[in-house]
Amino acid sequence: MEVYFVKGMSNSYITSDGVLIDAGVKLNDVVKVAEQHGIKIRYLFITHYHVDHTRYAADIAKALGCAVVVPELDSDVVEGRSRPPGGLAGLLHSLMRVKPVKADVKVKDGDEVEGYRALAAPGHTPGSTAYVKEGAMFSGDAVLSSNGRPVLPPKRYNFDQHRAEESFRKLLDLKPKVIYPGHGTPIKFMP
Ligand SMILES: [Zn+2]
Repeated sequence: MEVYFVKGMSNSYITSDGVLIDAGVKLNDVVKVAEQHGIKIRYLFITHYHVDHTRYAADIAKALGCAVVVPELDSDVVEGRSRPPGGLAGLLHSLMRVKPVKADVKVKDGDEVEGYRALAAPGHTPGSTAYVKEGAMFSGDAVLSSNGRPVLPPKRYNFDQHRAEESFRKLLDLKPKVIYPGHGTPIKFMP
């Protein structure tokens, strides 16, 4: 599986098997990278409801006709039934007028979609989820990268700091070969 980076409000990735991870990137930028590599995007996986990961989800899903996969516990916000709990995230969500998008698949811990395993990594948001395939982990903001080293997101962005720390350790304990984080450069581990 090859992984291609798309730059936006957060990191998005396009995999050679037709999956786009996160949607803080504009449709045109997604299409450009997908076409460059001859990839048809069939799935959009959302890691969590924050605006910098979901802002263009509705546009992308509509234009590409891909199935949208959302963590069950974050789906009320992603589908527009509620605002994110907490001051800053809620405020940003309203200010940026994020368009809701319908989840075609709602995942919980251990579910598998297209060979990707969903791993619940709550704390940053209630439903934060990492997707893992072939030793590649797409961690959303549950594990971020500072110059290739794993770090937690700043406290003020976390819904539940204690659980965020637990999830951070849990994901690292799974010993992925590489983590593709929501922000920062990929984290590569020695074999
Ligand atoms: Zn986030």
